[in-house]
Amino acid sequence: MDELTELLHRAAAAAAHYRTTLPDTPVAPRADVAALRPAFGDAMPKQPSPPGDVVDELIQAAEGGLMGTAGPRFFGFVIGGSLPAATAADVLTAGWDQCAFNGVLAPAAIAAEACAGSWLKDLLGIPATASAGFVTGGQEANTLGLLAARHHVLTEAGWDVERDGLLGAPAVRVVAGVERHATIDRSLRLLGFGTSLLEEVDADTNGAIDLASLEQVLGAGSAGPLIVCLQAGNVNTGACDDLRAATELVHRHGGWVHVDGAFGLWAAANPATAHLVDGLELADSWACDGHKWLNIGYDSGFAFCSRPEAHAMAASYRAAYLTGSGGDPSGGDLTLQSSRRARGFAVWAALRELGNDGIADLVERCCLLARRFADTLAAGGAEVVNDVVLNQVLVGFGDDARTEKVIEAVQRDGTCWLGGTTWRGRRLMRISVSNYATTEDDVDRSAAAILAATAR
Ligand SMILES: *Cc1c(COP(=O)(O)O)cnc(C)c1O
Repeated sequence: MDELTELLHRAAAAAAHYRTTLPDTPVAPRADVAALRPAFGDAMPKQPSPPGDVVDELIQAAEGGLMGTAGPRFFGFVIGGSLPAATAADVLTAGWDQCAFNGVLAPAAIAAEACAGSWLKDLLGIPATASAGFVTGGQEANTLGLLAARHHVLTEAGWDVERDGLLGAPAVRVVAGVERHATIDRSLRLLGFGTSLLEEVDADTNGAIDLASLEQVLGAGSAGPLIVCLQAGNVNTGACDDLRAATELVHRHGGWVHVDGAFGLWAAANPATAHLVDGLELADSWACDGHKWLNIGYDSGFAFCSRPEAHAMAASYRAAYLTGSGGDPSGGDLTLQSSRRARGFAVWAALRELGNDGIADLVERCCLLARRFADTLAAGGAEVVNDVVLNQVLVGFGDDARTEKVIEAVQRDGTCWLGGTTWRGRRLMRISVSNYATTEDDVDRSAAAILAATAR
C-alpha cells in the first residue's frame, strides 16, 4: 500500500474502533481541557513529521478527551449521532475534498445537494418550489431565513437593503416568542437589527407561543415591514408553536414568517407527530438541522425559503472570476459561505440509508423512548415538569441545589450524560433522545443510573 492509502485505512480503522466500542465506554470524557492540552504539544514544531506519526500522535492526544455524543446514551443538549452511511460519506467528503461553491467547481456535490434538497422538502412538507441551502447548522439557517425576510419586506417597502443598508431604511418590526432559541438574537445582531427592537410574545405553559399574545402584539404596532419568528421544537420542552394559526395571523398583517425548526421540524416526517407542526407549509422560511435529529455528523443544517429569488438575492454575490455564476442559485449562493464543504453527500447518504419509513421510525422511536424515560423517572419519584410531546424531557429532583447535585452525580457515573437547564426559574435536568442507536435497554440503564444518583 502507498503511504496515503495506508494512512486513510489507519484513520478509518481508528474511527471505527472508537464508534464500535462507544456503547461500552463511559459517556463523559475522563480528562478536561487542561489535562489534555499538554498532549497536543508545546512550541510549534520546526521540522516536518511523517504523516503516519502525526495521525498516531493525534489519536493518542485525544485519548480520554472525546465526549460520547455519537453513542446511544448521550442525552445532553439536542445532539443526535451519525448514521453509518452518513459517517462513511463524510469520510469520502474529506477524501474527495470538493469545494462546493457551485456546479462548475463541484458538479457531484451540487447534484447531491439538489437531490437531497428535494427529498428533504418532501419529507418535511415544505413546498417543492422552495430553495434549500446546505449550511453549517441552525444558527446559519436562522440567519439566512431572516436575511431573506429582511430583503423581502424592505423590497416591498421600496428599499434596496443590499445596496443601501439599514441606515435610513423604513423601520422593520421583528416579533418573536419569549421562548425563542438564543440563536435568533445572534442572527438579529448579525443582520444589523440589534436585539432591542424585538417585540416579545408570551408563551403557554409548555413553551409554545401564546396566540392571544401574538394577536395583541401584532395589533399594537404600526403597519409596515414585519418579520415574525415562530418555533417548532422548544429546546427545553419540545413544544411546537401552532404554526397554522400563527402564520395565518401574521400573513393577515402582511408579515413574513420564519420558522426555527432546528429539530422540531422532523415531527413532520413521522405520521404520529406530524400534527404538532401542522401548517408549516404556509411559512415563508424555515431553519432545520441535519446534525441533530437526522443523525448526520457535524456540521449540517438547512435553510429553506419559499421565495428562492429572495433567498438568492439576499445571500449570493457575483464576481467576474466566478465561472458558473448566473445559473440557478445553488451551493454558495444559498449560504453565507463561498468556499464550502460538500455537505450534501452525507445528507444524501443519510436519507438514502433510512428512506421515508426509516426516518418516520427514527422520530417515533425517539419520542417513545423519551416517554419511557419520563414514566420510569416519575415512577421512581422524580418530577417530570414538561408535557412530553416530542423527544425532550425536563425533570426536577426537589430544589435547584439537589437537582444540580443529581446532574453532576449522573455525569460522573458515566452510564449516560445529560445536562441541566433553567426553565421558568427552576434548575432542571434536561433529557433529549435524538440518537438513532438508542434502545429501550439504554433508556432503562440510564434511568436506573439517574434514580441511583438521587438515592445517594
Ligand atoms: C439547536 C438549535 C438551534 C441552533 O442550531 P445549531 O445547529 O446549534 O446552530 C436553533 N434553534 C433551535 C430550536 C435549536 O434547537
